[in-house]
Amino acid sequence: MTYTHPQLSASTHWINGRFDGTASSHTDVTNPATGALVASVPSGTAEDVDRAVSAARAALPGWANTSTADRAAVLTRLAAEITEHNEEIAQAITVEIGAPIMFSRMAQAGLPAAVAAAVASIEPNIDWVEEIGTSLIVREPVGVVGAITPWNFPLQQTMTKIAPALLAGNTIVYKPSEVAPLTAALLARAVTRAGAPDGVFNVVYGAGKVVGEAIAAHPDVDMISFTGSTAVGKRLSVVAASNVKRVGLELGGKSANIVLEGADIDLAVRETLVNSWSNGGQACGAWTRLLVPAARKDEIVTKLVAAAAGYSVGNPLDETVRLGPLASESQWERVNGYIEKGIEEGATLAYGGPGRIPGLEDGAYIRPTIFSDVDPNSTIAQEEIFGPVLSVISYEDEEDAVAIANSTIYGLTAAVFGEAEDALRVANRLEVGQVYLNGAGLNMLAPFGGYKQSGNGREFGRHGVEEFTEVKAILIGGSTGASVAL
Ligand code: NAD
Repeated sequence: MTYTHPQLSASTHWINGRFDGTASSHTDVTNPATGALVASVPSGTAEDVDRAVSAARAALPGWANTSTADRAAVLTRLAAEITEHNEEIAQAITVEIGAPIMFSRMAQAGLPAAVAAAVASIEPNIDWVEEIGTSLIVREPVGVVGAITPWNFPLQQTMTKIAPALLAGNTIVYKPSEVAPLTAALLARAVTRAGAPDGVFNVVYGAGKVVGEAIAAHPDVDMISFTGSTAVGKRLSVVAASNVKRVGLELGGKSANIVLEGADIDLAVRETLVNSWSNGGQACGAWTRLLVPAARKDEIVTKLVAAAAGYSVGNPLDETVRLGPLASESQWERVNGYIEKGIEEGATLAYGGPGRIPGLEDGAYIRPTIFSDVDPNSTIAQEEIFGPVLSVISYEDEEDAVAIANSTIYGLTAAVFGEAEDALRVANRLEVGQVYLNGAGLNMLAPFGGYKQSGNGREFGRHGVEEFTEVKAILIGGSTGASVAL
């Protein structure tokens, strides 16, 4: 499988509406299905960040003064641009992280277009100016936003930041993941073609420690919007404190999926595997802990194992394949280590297991794996694995299920399957930002984000746009005057 990315082969960073300068060193991007080199992207420096921030700062007043309706129109055109390039985006992401091509077309490339369109659509519903008594409450852009994203949904995680940030009138310096940077240049051009002036959206490639920290530390950056691991989110918060930046964090997860007595078991089994194994389980909100009534465990595990057989592993460019390789060799080492740990800690291996898959030794292919009888306090039940590894945990009653679900440091998403009333009652007791009942689908306008160490911000919909605004109160006086300083 060979791949050359037409827009990256001769490019460097994207600053002030054009490919910028020459880079002295580059980082290789490899195809995890084959280990082959697919592209080299610049290894940026603090000076590159500085130029990008200057461009974003210079573009800010003009962009902030356009109307929200005009900015929504840019997003509508951006959605069309992304849709038009669906295949190119899907191919790039499949080659850089191994996502199966059908999933790449539908989710990796399809969702970002839907996000941009959804954000554009809510422009009329946002209270840009609100009256409280005789005061005006005005929403203004925060300023220059640093957007730092992970590799698992490279364009989608970016769009959930830049669409709302642009609608609110901010300008952006974006650092893609060094593992999955292939769509960043295409995105930059699409934003420009959609009508954003030069400097509104800038891209600096490079390592987190260098470029990411330079953005986080920069005195002229007003906000960091970060999606990635909890460990890096903590570090970024410290670095960003230098000028009291706003920091929005979308971090890791260890989501619980509770099957209640009265649930439709076949639906629960089917949706559990779709959710927890799509993108190779490399999703922050994946339902990786399946909590089942102890008395139903054997029945549910038998059905899971039967359904798991339908998850073919192989070349991600094959349209029939459901699981490609993991995104990198280091991901393989990590996930394989957790599978070995699960066995070592005494969980029952019901499906899959550690090691290379015969015939697929050249890529980062891992067996999708199901453990049952998992101790809720064990490593595989507590730590984010970020691979297709499902832990089935038995519970005694509803109290027990809720306690287990809430027992990790994370609080991103959860799922409940059961009678509608029971499922809603349990949902209300879960310490997470989003709960899916009985296999509900995505809602592009419902807020997404974490409780506890899964983060502190919200993306999607009106809440996602508000994250990127400052709130100003203008208190209107009269002839009598009543000034008080607080
Ligand atoms: P990561 O934290 O290693 O890297 C994320 C980004 O941060 C990358 O661009 C990286 O270069 C950069 N970075 C790394 N160190 C940095 C530093 N010191 N300063 C500034 N930037 C730095 O995460 P990853 O491995 O790319 O992605 C997987 C993680 O992302 C998982 O933990 C997953 O749960 C999380 N994630 C969360 C969400 C969400 O919405 N909550 C969505 C997707 C992924």
